[in-house]
Amino acid sequence: MTPPPIDLRSDTVTKPAPGMRRAMAEAEVGDDVLDGDPTTRRLEQRVAELLGTEDALFFPSGTQANQTGIALCTEHGTELLLEGNAHVVHYELAGVAALSGVQIRTIATPDGLLTPELVRGALRAPSPHVPRITALAIENTHNVAGGRVLNSAAVDSLIRAARDARLAVHLDGARLWNAAVAAGVTPARLAQGADTVMVSFSKALGCPVGSCLGFRTDKRARAWEIRKRLGGGMRQSGILAAAGLYALDYNLDRIVEDHENAKRFAELLSDSPTVRPSAPESNIVMVDLQRDGATAEAAAARLAQAGVRLAPYGPRRLRAVTHLDVSRSDVERAARIVVETLG
Ligand SMILES: *Cc1c(COP(=O)(O)O)cnc(C)c1O
Repeated sequence: MTPPPIDLRSDTVTKPAPGMRRAMAEAEVGDDVLDGDPTTRRLEQRVAELLGTEDALFFPSGTQANQTGIALCTEHGTELLLEGNAHVVHYELAGVAALSGVQIRTIATPDGLLTPELVRGALRAPSPHVPRITALAIENTHNVAGGRVLNSAAVDSLIRAARDARLAVHLDGARLWNAAVAAGVTPARLAQGADTVMVSFSKALGCPVGSCLGFRTDKRARAWEIRKRLGGGMRQSGILAAAGLYALDYNLDRIVEDHENAKRFAELLSDSPTVRPSAPESNIVMVDLQRDGATAEAAAARLAQAGVRLAPYGPRRLRAVTHLDVSRSDVERAARIVVETLG
């Protein structure tokens, strides 16, 4: 019998474990749209505490929470600054334009890491002839850049640059848990100074569904209204929020293992002349194909046949993401398969 493939395409492929499913089954629930769901409220309060925001709201997806945060931070007919390869730029279906009437102004970086100098360089002198910029959005960790981490000093300097220009700041923290572990600080430290903060439960934390948006209490009614309009009002959402609470209890402290496994994976690939792995800072390894004519699509297909799934992330680039459902030995086996198959 061939073992099931080792799935490193994304940290979203994790399946809820028995303990999580039990917590979900036993969750105390109410109608969250009508008069509140007690488990959802507990999760929101816990997340607000973890992020150091006054309040938080539970969302069905990170995309919806990002779009709501951006709507709160911007004004119709103005611009939002973003790193050029941000998730909001490439993977949210022009939601910022479609939903908030906001134009994205991208900032190119060599490595996904914004700097205050680059932010200042993207600002425009006030003029009746040019769009006003209302907000900056930061992604931490940065997915397309290979899980790169902005440490607290880098975040502070970006937020200061934004404040100096009177910009609101949205933090896309789909992998903020990973960023905090990698930077050796609390999630609240990396969220400090941001107006709105998105975090996900369906990535590193192994939940089936769910994200939260943190914000100041005076934004709650407006955030609730936007979420409802986007179709994100959920009824007995405590079933889902219970998974988040379980994950914060049991899955947060082990994220460091994912980072060690990513390093191990990259280390095992580094001797092969046919692939060049990135140096992972968190749970993502980008693998660049070195052989003439090699394509990511063809390589991914051959690897899947051989028992490892990686995600094509460019014409000659594959992405590997470590997560709760892959062990150290899975990752080592996966690396050996990659070296043998593409060698
Ligand atoms: C996955 C992801 C999102 C969106 O989350 P979904 O729950 O898939 O909608 C947003 N930002 C980043 C950086 C992500 O990796």
